[in-house]
Amino acid sequence: MIQKYDSVIIGAGAAGLMCAYIAGSRHKKVLLLDHSNKLAEKIRISGGGRCNFTNIYTEPKCYISANPHFCISALSGYTPYHFTDLLDKYKIGYHEKTLGQLFCNDSSGDIIGLLDNLCKANNVNRKMSIQVLNVTKIPNGFEITTDNIGVIHAETLVIATGGLSIPQIGASGFGYNLAREFSLNVIKTEPALVPLALDPEQLQYFGPLSGSSFFSQTKIDKITFMENTLITHRGLSGPAILQISSYYNSGSGLQIDMLPKQDIKQLINENRKSTKLLSNFLTLFFSQRIASSICQILQVDKQLCQLSNKDIELINKLIHNFTVTPSGTLGYKKAEVTKGGVDTKELSSKSMECRKIDGLFFIGEVVDVTGWLGGYNFQWAWASAVATGNSL
Ligand SMILES: Cc1cc2nc3c(=O)[nH]c(=O)nc-3n(C[C@H](O)[C@H](O)[C@H](O)COP(=O)(O)OP(=O)(O)OC[C@H]3O[C@@H](n4cnc5c(N)ncnc54)[C@H](O)[C@@H]3O)c2cc1C
Repeated sequence: MIQKYDSVIIGAGAAGLMCAYIAGSRHKKVLLLDHSNKLAEKIRISGGGRCNFTNIYTEPKCYISANPHFCISALSGYTPYHFTDLLDKYKIGYHEKTLGQLFCNDSSGDIIGLLDNLCKANNVNRKMSIQVLNVTKIPNGFEITTDNIGVIHAETLVIATGGLSIPQIGASGFGYNLAREFSLNVIKTEPALVPLALDPEQLQYFGPLSGSSFFSQTKIDKITFMENTLITHRGLSGPAILQISSYYNSGSGLQIDMLPKQDIKQLINENRKSTKLLSNFLTLFFSQRIASSICQILQVDKQLCQLSNKDIELINKLIHNFTVTPSGTLGYKKAEVTKGGVDTKELSSKSMECRKIDGLFFIGEVVDVTGWLGGYNFQWAWASAVATGNSL
């Protein structure tokens, strides 16, 4: 027997749950399917278990896309304050950690529970551990063939299967493959918000500093981020590196200013008569390990009064304009998101519906809209889902 629904949503993650709730609240008969046996694992593991669910400074410039204007409509239709209103209504506590990033007070489970309850209250039929075997276009809708709940007909089909990062918790290329099957363009996908790897030669210098972090400005071309850089046993991580990684192309050089708010040349010149060793002086700004390492790399550890102008130029270059060429990224296993995806030219920015295929929608991370680190990706998931939920 063929089951009939107004809408089938594939992917019960952030975007799928939100879209199902909104469509359900508009009295649509909705089936929400997921191949995983666990609900919304990415929400659960996000933000160190407390889900950085939005950012109050959300703006279109915080997103990377072949069409930077595409996200404007959805983001202005559903803002961070719409989401916090929802949390307030259901008494879920949250706080700003830093830079506009909002986190749950207790746990990410609060958000999963809220969205799941809203789906239940609005009669969404959610089924987990379902493999979608085939999707075909039929007159007035879609035929979806599954492994264990048979064949379903739906007037509209929403793809909310997310990106490729963290395959071990159910990420798959389903959405991209389906888009290609329907002859839609997919912008090249790449790991983003991902640690950068260094080659063994570079690790000789950095390896002993593993675990050290410092406030920094990272730069590729004209893009800059000012946050912490963390040195790891495989390369570079921390928020400043994750942010800039989304702009990294294989072979790009990365510039790091290790003391972005100060001028080391001026600071040394102001203390030019001091008998303090450079390595001790640098501990005013860096950890002991990093300070010693700077002196070791430059092979300069003199008293400040003994430094030559040439020494100061070298110190200035290393601290303010340290250039490193990563050997690559740590890939989808460590990436928070996938850059690229379904080409926004294929979609309406108001509803996320395909221009060429009536009734087919793509929402969330599967679309070529990638946010910065800091709650922007969930905000895109909510906003694109609401745009679609209101259009089904
Ligand atoms: C470790 C980590 C931490 C993160 N922290 C944050 C954060 O704090 N703030 C932030 O804004 N973003 C964060 N992100 C990014 C954020 O999780 C995603 O951008 C967001 O979840 C995307 O929502 P989505 O609904 O599009 O995809 P997802 O939430 O990934 O949901 C996709 C769903 O589709 C299902 N699915 C996949 N393939 C199939 C298939 N073939 N058949 C059926 N179902 C399928 C999956 O099981 C999953 O349930 C983090 C990501 C990671 C990996």
